[in-house]
Amino acid sequence: AHLDRIDAVDGDLNAFLHVSREEALEVARDVDARRAAGETLHRLAGVPIAVKDVVVTRGIPTTAGSKILEGWVPPYDATLVEKIRDARLPILGKTNMDEFAMGSSTESSAYGRTLNPWGEDRIPGGSGGGSAAAVAAFEAPLAIGTDTGGSIRQPAAMTGSVGVKPTYGSVSRYGLIAMASSLDQAGPCTRTVEDSALLHELIAGHDPKDSTSLRDPVAAFGEHARRRDVKGMRIGVIEELEGEGFAPEVRARFEESLALLEQAGAEIVRVACPNFRYALGAYYLIMPSEASSNLAKFDGMRFGQRIVPEGGATAEAVMKATRGAGFGAEVKRRILLGTYALSAGYYDAYYGSAQKVRTLVQRDFAAAFESVDVLASPTAPTGAFRFGENAEDPMAMYLNDVATIPANLAGVPGISLPSGLAEDGMPAGIQFLAPAFADHRLYEVGGALE
Ligand code: GLN
Repeated sequence: AHLDRIDAVDGDLNAFLHVSREEALEVARDVDARRAAGETLHRLAGVPIAVKDVVVTRGIPTTAGSKILEGWVPPYDATLVEKIRDARLPILGKTNMDEFAMGSSTESSAYGRTLNPWGEDRIPGGSGGGSAAAVAAFEAPLAIGTDTGGSIRQPAAMTGSVGVKPTYGSVSRYGLIAMASSLDQAGPCTRTVEDSALLHELIAGHDPKDSTSLRDPVAAFGEHARRRDVKGMRIGVIEELEGEGFAPEVRARFEESLALLEQAGAEIVRVACPNFRYALGAYYLIMPSEASSNLAKFDGMRFGQRIVPEGGATAEAVMKATRGAGFGAEVKRRILLGTYALSAGYYDAYYGSAQKVRTLVQRDFAAAFESVDVLASPTAPTGAFRFGENAEDPMAMYLNDVATIPANLAGVPGISLPSGLAEDGMPAGIQFLAPAFADHRLYEVGGALE
């Protein structure tokens, strides 16, 4: 049924870069046969899933939304994909995204834009707009995203879906095409909080192939989501992330959601996180710095589709031609930014200062979590904006991430779920953040609000 739905709507929507029809059907039939034979399978066995194209999948093309990886078929699986395959979830295909996960609208994909199912002139958010649109358009009940600065939570907010960025280290990064390794974290995008909880349970866990992978046991997130109880929970509204710069309708939906939680017995308090105002600036130094290093391997020699220029085919000429034609404008912009920030003479002033801000943001979180269980803010400043609205102005695009980025800088988990409709009837999201290792609280508060 989901493959039929993809056939019917994805020609316009463009949520998928690749549909793995045969494999999905094969897994689905295998699940049926095993169940018929009385075998007990994972509870998500047979539930189809879409995977963001920045996650490598053995035998299924993987491009990260970039021309430079066009036609690449990975010889191995990301650890999270291995877990999905072992549990026998049919993989429907790979979803569209901003090139190398850099963006907030999916407009920077080398393979065309993805439409928002809520309005064809609207962006589906980014960078994981394909995963979120697939879920919102009923092409897939479950999807995988990655969140470096908001790329699971913001697209979820833009499409009326649920998105979770787990605690850094909760889900293995082995097999994610790295953007900014100290910030990247994979997680679920789904239609309900409980679905996210169950998918998170499946993909989390220690992995010796990822040196930053946590050893803690994985909590029963699904049970926490079903509890639907916030009595006595202290919810802190982040003062720096509710006023100026947030659209009136987004703020109204946010306040209404808080009122519902208060009625259910939660206590709402205001907390200050004064250093959050520097988080966006710090992120846009740290993220490009790490990305400029991570993307150096795509040079046509080690990785990437090799382009040999006519005339002198020296190594340098091949690298120049490959990277010149293979990378899009946003990727080049960030490689330049990052290379500059890391260069001798500027390193301390830019990268060094940004790392200090990162510590200050972590301290703001630590101080806030001394008095509250979770923090809350709108997920993004506006509902889904129009194609082209922010495309020519990188700063306007970057500002979209103002509320999501602090969690990545600190490694703490966050969830976005629908708060109602904002301007023009476009969905808006509310975000909750919890201390590291307390992801279960997100499912409790999310489950209660849903
Ligand atoms: N929009 C942010 C950026 O462009 C976040 C991207 C992400 O989380 N992958 O960097």
